[in-house]
Amino acid sequence: MATGVCGTEPLVFRLHEGAPELVREVLLERGWEEFEEQQQEEGDWNLYWRAAAFRNSDYENTMPWQRLNHHPKTVGITRKDWLARNLRRMRGTFGSALYNFSPTAFNLPNDYVRFLEEYSKHRLANGNQGAYWICKPVDLSRGRGIFIFEDIKDLVYDCPVIVQKYISNPLLISGYKFDLRIYVCVKSFSPLTIYMYQEGLVRFATEKFNLGALNNLYSHLTNTSINKFGPFYSTDKEYIGEGCKWTLSKFRCFLQSLRINELLLWQKINNIVTLTLLTIAPSIPSSPNCIELFGFDILIDENFKPWLLEVNYSPALSMDCSADVTVKKGLINDLIDLLNYTEIDHFRQRGYLRQKYRRPCYLGSQILQARTPPVLLLPKCLCKTSSCEKCQGQSYLCSRGGSPDSCGTAQRPPQYCSDENLNCALQLNLGSSLKPATHYCHKKTHSPHSQKPKLVEGSRPYDLESENEYGSCVSSPGMVKENSKRKSGSFAKLPPIHGHKYKPPVYPWDYKVKNTGVPPSRVGDFILTFPFNEVTLRASQKKLNIKMAVQEVYKLTSQLIASGRHKGKRRKEEISRSLGGEDKLESLLWGPRNPPSLSDCCLKT
Ligand code: ADP
Repeated sequence: MATGVCGTEPLVFRLHEGAPELVREVLLERGWEEFEEQQQEEGDWNLYWRAAAFRNSDYENTMPWQRLNHHPKTVGITRKDWLARNLRRMRGTFGSALYNFSPTAFNLPNDYVRFLEEYSKHRLANGNQGAYWICKPVDLSRGRGIFIFEDIKDLVYDCPVIVQKYISNPLLISGYKFDLRIYVCVKSFSPLTIYMYQEGLVRFATEKFNLGALNNLYSHLTNTSINKFGPFYSTDKEYIGEGCKWTLSKFRCFLQSLRINELLLWQKINNIVTLTLLTIAPSIPSSPNCIELFGFDILIDENFKPWLLEVNYSPALSMDCSADVTVKKGLINDLIDLLNYTEIDHFRQRGYLRQKYRRPCYLGSQILQARTPPVLLLPKCLCKTSSCEKCQGQSYLCSRGGSPDSCGTAQRPPQYCSDENLNCALQLNLGSSLKPATHYCHKKTHSPHSQKPKLVEGSRPYDLESENEYGSCVSSPGMVKENSKRKSGSFAKLPPIHGHKYKPPVYPWDYKVKNTGVPPSRVGDFILTFPFNEVTLRASQKKLNIKMAVQEVYKLTSQLIASGRHKGKRRKEEISRSLGGEDKLESLLWGPRNPPSLSDCCLKT
């Protein structure tokens, strides 16, 4: 296996069948290696990427150096019927002034009577001319099974569907309908941390919009999977060009040419994303090793109101055209940066017995208690440090002597390690649960196969508060990968990581701006959009306070609208104060490439 940065082993990715080729390409370019099931131990990987959902056991068994590309239970927004139900519930709780961004929808057959009432209401109001409706199978994607109708006699379905009000006045470019694919990364659901990608895709229909031809899917649907088979896909279409995609940057140029209040549009889209994610955030089990990339489909109508059409799980990462190449490669690279692997993550397989240790994913925010105490393997070379030599005969028993270790020492009798060493070991073995040690020595002078780890039994509950105390004591892990399969019987146990009091785990990949607890406002082209001020930061910590978060979103939008109306009338300080003044957390504007802070934008308007 090649040696990676700083002499460490390269990071390893594991792709499940159906995972996008682009992910493999990007990771290989970054010097990662692909996991080989036949040759590598099961936990010997850093990133597991699946197009489909993970199993519960995958979440339960993740190690501190591992990340998964899905959070559990996000189906509440990624299935059309669940999304409709959840948004209706939020509208009931928080009112339709905010939750008014998704077209009225009915889940059929269950909501048939309600749909009939609404349908009749529209017919009565407009003479015999009703509204337009779109019918979509709830668990299909890529435009499959979708049709548009005006008359209820045309509504025929043989599986659960969602019937949604059809947005019949979309904004058109040269007569063509389009929607936006917005990429959103949820770094964490607890605390809720949302990043939006500045670049994205505009997806066009390939025939001009025509309400007189509801059956023509090339005119009404913007899915690439449909339009690339259309007769005009390769035609050079007026203003649009060939194919059916633009980058978001190109779209922004178009908006600027129209002299649109871009800031307000992007902020509305931000709000849609935040308010949608708030619908499920409290129900997502705490899963600190997970990240999720969603694709939000947004349609803009002729009044520049953005509408949420759906949220995609595992958005397509295929490369159909140059816009895809421009957007998606950077997207995956920035997503990997957002995962923030640190040096400590290169040291896989260092301490836990996978079968015994349970990450507290499914305990949500109630109690974080390892179901079974984790076990720790202490690499021999750790015990070679002078402090370890001192500790023989003290409290932690290294239950197996081992073969000549990687540090070149001869076989030893069973060893004892001090509290201090135990915590040093935890520092290493917990990897991501603790702050990484500041100085390692990556001497890789030993055969990976020659190293056998030492076993350490602990009797003192590990206190997260002491992590700094022991932070500097690791001088030379010098560890290398152990490839042989471990036997469960040969591990000693440590007490639970988390005591009785709930303390959220701290992962170095969950990096925060120093001393503030604030996630970085920008990673590559990912822009932090939630939390966006001190209040939302507080609202997202501990137990998510949805009401507070929703109110802040509302306030922000109102302020933005007001600041637009009062152009130049309000005094700078007044606006600045209303937007949070010196608040470093203030939401960044997501639209522009180099976004100024929101208050800056308002001050200029
Ligand atoms: P799928 O998961 O099959 O892609 P979508 O909900 O994204 O289903 O719908 C596919 C396409 O249909 C969208 O990209 C959009 O062009 C169009 N569409 C969907 N819902 C509406 C709607 N309510 N109003 C107008 N167009 C819609």
